[in-house]
Amino acid sequence: MILVDPNKPVYRGNTHTHTQNSDGRKSFDEALDIYAALGHDFLVVTDHWKIGPETRRGKMLVMSGIEYDFLDVPNQALHVVGILPGGADPGLDREKDNRDYNYAIRRINEVGGAAVLAHPHWSLNTLDVMKNVGDVVGAEVYNAVSGLPFGPDRAVSTAQLDVAAANGRLFRFLCGDDTHYYLSEPGSGFTMVQADECTPEGIIAALKRGSFYCTQGPLVHAASYDPEARVFSVDCSPADMVVFYTDAPWAPARCVAEKGMTHAEYHAVDRDHFVRCEVIDASGKRAWISPVKA
Ligand SMILES: [Zn+2]
Ligand SMILES: [Zn+2]
Repeated sequence: MILVDPNKPVYRGNTHTHTQNSDGRKSFDEALDIYAALGHDFLVVTDHWKIGPETRRGKMLVMSGIEYDFLDVPNQALHVVGILPGGADPGLDREKDNRDYNYAIRRINEVGGAAVLAHPHWSLNTLDVMKNVGDVVGAEVYNAVSGLPFGPDRAVSTAQLDVAAANGRLFRFLCGDDTHYYLSEPGSGFTMVQADECTPEGIIAALKRGSFYCTQGPLVHAASYDPEARVFSVDCSPADMVVFYTDAPWAPARCVAEKGMTHAEYHAVDRDHFVRCEVIDASGKRAWISPVKA
């Protein structure tokens, strides 16, 4: 099973951005300039309950998106990002449709879009709710604005996503800047999408088939899992550590540390039901490869 294909093009983008069209501090135009200057291939603008236009800024593709938040999910928040081709409108009414997140996810899919569960750690999403979430392309493993100094220290959602995976619900991982303040969030995490072409349809199709990984900086050049041999293999930019996460309490060689390493492998043990990989570079930045069934 090829998880990152060394022979396919990869496009770098941010799937979660706010502007002054909701509670972001920069205008739509300023936001596009900031992300174009970062060299991103694509940007999805996801204002709260407001769909932005699809356009380009220089070489950068600007995709339509939206973020919905839902009331009455017991003891937690629940936010869903919709990535929408050509500004397609799921047709939700903020006053009427602010309770049923699975209806929103269904509508995003029905108009040809891709849905993402946003910042599950910030939201304190429970296992029951995460198992009930409908057809999403993944969840944000890293959300910049959910961390210091913008929010509580809940930028990284691996603990919850691992509990979900251990209970049979494997979310694929995306990074989202969730830019509001335009300080250190832009470009702090991005999703690397292996699309046939950098068009809205190409990016959405690649997200739906799971052809992506996400990162704060380190690059993954190739990754695969062989279910027969039960071996997870990764080739990456120079790293100080590669860590393989599973649900077994203990496994040999789970954590491989060697300065400047560019390859690592993990042999799953009997008790592993899923396996995923993190690449950590010398500055502590991480890349995440989504969990697969072991
Ligand atoms: Zn949110
Ligand atoms: Zn947001």
